[in-house]
Amino acid sequence: MVHVGIGYDVHPLVEGRKLILGGVDIPHTKGLEGHSDADALMHAICDALLGALGEPDIGHFFPNTDPRWRGAASAVFLKEAARQVGARKGTIINVDATIIAQQPKLFPHIQAMKTNIAEALAVNIKQVGIKATTNEHLGFIGREEGIAAMAVANVDLP
Ligand SMILES: [Zn+2]
Repeated sequence: MVHVGIGYDVHPLVEGRKLILGGVDIPHTKGLEGHSDADALMHAICDALLGALGEPDIGHFFPNTDPRWRGAASAVFLKEAARQVGARKGTIINVDATIIAQQPKLFPHIQAMKTNIAEALAVNIKQVGIKATTNEHLGFIGREEGIAAMAVANVDLP
């Protein structure tokens, strides 16, 4: 049976942090604030996969109060989500995500993000969709105060 899951994440954009999205270190004047590397894209995909399993979000499995996850590369979280799918004898059909960021231009980095995410999930790159859009200068994203990501995941479960 095919299960769908949805994920959403947002992190504040601040000075003095690296901007990591989809595991790619993107040159920018600001980066995302968070306990881990604050990779909103990977976090949203993670929550989509966990949602397809009916599990709680990644904060449940990786609390932001745990020093082990301080500065952690978020691929660790994706690998755990994929492991949970495997533990249920499930198969990831595809994941699809949209990053909402006013700046910087993300299109040049999309392919590298797909490669990283496919590798962390042990799926083919063709099973990973990633798009980026701006927020047309509206709201907190438009004012470049934060970056959001949303994702869906399709998982075939026995
Ligand atoms: Zn997050």
